[in-house]
Amino acid sequence: GDIVNVGDEGKTSSAVPDWESLRNQFPMIGDLIYLDNAATSFSPESVLVAMDQFERSYRANVGRGVHRLTRIASQKYWHAHEKAASLINGAEGTTVFVKNTTEAVTMIARGLEWQPGDVIVTTILEHHSNLLPWRALEKSGVTLRIVGLRPDLTLDMDAFAAAMDDSVRLVAVTQASNVTGTIVPVAEIAGFCRRHGALLSVDAAQSVPHMPVNVRALGADFLSFSGHKMCGPTGTGVLWMKKPILEPLFLGGGMVEHVTDDGFTPAEGFHRYEAGTPNIAGGIGLGEAAAFLKEIGMEQIEARERELGSRLIEKLSAISGVQVYAPADPNQRIGVVSFTIDGIPPHEAAAYLDDEGGIMVRSGMHCAEPLMRQLGCPDGTIRASLAFYNTASEIDTLAATVREMIS
Ligand code: PLP
Repeated sequence: GDIVNVGDEGKTSSAVPDWESLRNQFPMIGDLIYLDNAATSFSPESVLVAMDQFERSYRANVGRGVHRLTRIASQKYWHAHEKAASLINGAEGTTVFVKNTTEAVTMIARGLEWQPGDVIVTTILEHHSNLLPWRALEKSGVTLRIVGLRPDLTLDMDAFAAAMDDSVRLVAVTQASNVTGTIVPVAEIAGFCRRHGALLSVDAAQSVPHMPVNVRALGADFLSFSGHKMCGPTGTGVLWMKKPILEPLFLGGGMVEHVTDDGFTPAEGFHRYEAGTPNIAGGIGLGEAAAFLKEIGMEQIEARERELGSRLIEKLSAISGVQVYAPADPNQRIGVVSFTIDGIPPHEAAAYLDDEGGIMVRSGMHCAEPLMRQLGCPDGTIRASLAFYNTASEIDTLAATVREMIS
């Protein structure tokens, strides 16, 4: 193959994609009914091929030396950063490849200097990965303020405004909930941040794979997401920053310009934050996944999943004994739907769905225990989460299997 050509930038198309042929590009799918995409999604051929090509035809370290293979690998790996940045309109910032969202949030929390009295505002919707790294700062005198929900499961923006004052150093919010699917009005929150001189860190693990995300329009200072939830490889993710203001958490090879006998000069750009040999095949696969999504068009993906999500909510809500936890307005939610069934614990229900219907869903706490308590679900929920490659008939099978389980 032509391994030197780094390929075209993904472009956004306006024609309605052929969803069935796109589905056929995912070798994992076959006859599976996979509704656990919020946990991890599948990868298309193009991503698998890109990673395979690295391993088979130009495997070498990156950013080190001058021989042919290292030059090809470096070029591909660096270009993957540009593809990831392009998906979020982040070319003007620094796009760092990390292991996952959890690592990205940790790098932000540990990379800023905190003073006693600093306040962080966050929300009850957060995944543990966007809560515990901030919680850990409480021992340095930092205070957390947690904004709650309105009864309709949207974020309480009045409470948010009330939580803001000039002691707020940083606001950490998810853009879309991995439990209720709630979309958070991040651009409005960015306005609060500007008014009070606070930084804005966005957990985009559930938004980047499912809707257009534009870091400049959002006004984010940091944006974190995971490759494995956006058709990319496991062990990959992105920490995007508007300005490289973080102290690097990891030190060593690859992140320095010069090392003297008593210190070092850090490298510029993303290199500064990628110490050690990175996950090269994974990074290349992540770039390919970003280009793949961009080629389909995030508006198209959002519309497709909104339609499927509404069908899912309608079908489940019509079953007596089923409680659905989702905002009513389709424009305020992604295709992540939590539900409970009277008298059937979530794990039992999920096991039944797989055993009897061949349907894979997530069950339990979804790494969001404070939210589960808020929702009144001490045993957690069952969660069906969509990707654009899911179908209406899979949703109908889920609803039929839930009915059968109840009877
Ligand atoms: N934030 C949200 C909203 C998530 O849904 C997840 C994953 O479930 C994470 C953070 C953590 O992602 P990862 O496990 O890839 O670090």
